[in-house]
Amino acid sequence: MKGGHRPIEGGAVRPAGDGAGAPLLVLEDVARTFDVSPPWLNRVLERRPRTLLHAVDGVSLAIERGETLALVGESGCGKSTVARLIVGLHAPTRGTLRFDGTVLAGDGAGAVAPAARRLARRGMQMIFQDPYASLNPRWRVRDIVAEPILARSSAVPPREIDTRVAALLAQVGLAASDGAKYPHQFSGGQRQRISIARALSTEPRFLVCDEPTSALDVSVQAQVLNLMRDLQRRLGLTYLFISHNLAVVHHVADRVGVMYLGRVVEIAPTRRLFALPQHPYTRMLLEAVPDLSIVGRERVAVAGEVPNPLDPPPGCTFHPRCPSAEDRCRREAPMLRRCAAGGEVACHAVEEGRLDVRVPLPLLPDGPRAGRAAAGNPL
Ligand code: SF4
Repeated sequence: MKGGHRPIEGGAVRPAGDGAGAPLLVLEDVARTFDVSPPWLNRVLERRPRTLLHAVDGVSLAIERGETLALVGESGCGKSTVARLIVGLHAPTRGTLRFDGTVLAGDGAGAVAPAARRLARRGMQMIFQDPYASLNPRWRVRDIVAEPILARSSAVPPREIDTRVAALLAQVGLAASDGAKYPHQFSGGQRQRISIARALSTEPRFLVCDEPTSALDVSVQAQVLNLMRDLQRRLGLTYLFISHNLAVVHHVADRVGVMYLGRVVEIAPTRRLFALPQHPYTRMLLEAVPDLSIVGRERVAVAGEVPNPLDPPPGCTFHPRCPSAEDRCRREAPMLRRCAAGGEVACHAVEEGRLDVRVPLPLLPDGPRAGRAAAGNPL
């Protein structure tokens, strides 16, 4: 989250290593395909081929230590699948995933001992979107928070567990006595605090936050975001923040990656992305954010529908919705390339200088307007 460290330019994958200067997390050409074919007998009788869904299609990015990288995009763009690939809930179909110098999946993972991979994975945890569904309603808070500690070592004495749970609850603004209660006795914001305490119980360095505030009221969202920012500052955490809410992303992220149909189409420092969006899709998203300060100017809605991911368009998958599409866009998929404004963009028109991307969009401030934007988010 925005804080006391220098955001890096672009999302280029730098050489990894064990040194403190290397990125904490590196994804290289990571893809995940799901087989959504009908049952074998139906396929044979109907002579239909397998149906594959390319949920993530060649994502490469690097996350620096202490940084907050946000991924945004419409539903189905693959951002939550990226989160699940990172924490190991899905295995990548292609590509390499490296965390703190250890290859967790992909090329070279076979050479790493399973115990070393398990040890590395302990350095990351996930906070889920729905604090109502992610906490076991039959368990007391003390047991929920203690579970990851006991999963690591069942030999920890109960008294030490109690001390650690009390410290974790205090860290997220809850009382030690709350450990004796059940999740239903708490509000949504308090439940998300319990989820954060549970995530912190194994002392991770990296948190994957999958829409951590989208199920909460706007007023409570700010409290939880501020808590996460404080924890990041105090504990030196690194965040991957998945969100569909551009106002929240503007508030918390150092860099933002925009995803469309399984690919990153633009990645840049937050201020640059909001002030000078380059990719036509990013511009479309930001143009659609409601803004009462621009009275009289017509808002441009995000045009068209996301294509069927089972049958994506050839070339640039955004071309059916893009006002700047030309023949090359229908034939050739653009690669993510560094652009003069900073960051990286995957667009032929930007590469060819066909777009006037110098006109800055008004920045979303952190404040009341951000709240309005949250209420009418285009995603
Ligand atoms: Fe539009 Fe072509 Fe750029 Fe795709 S590559 S965003 S279709 S201009």
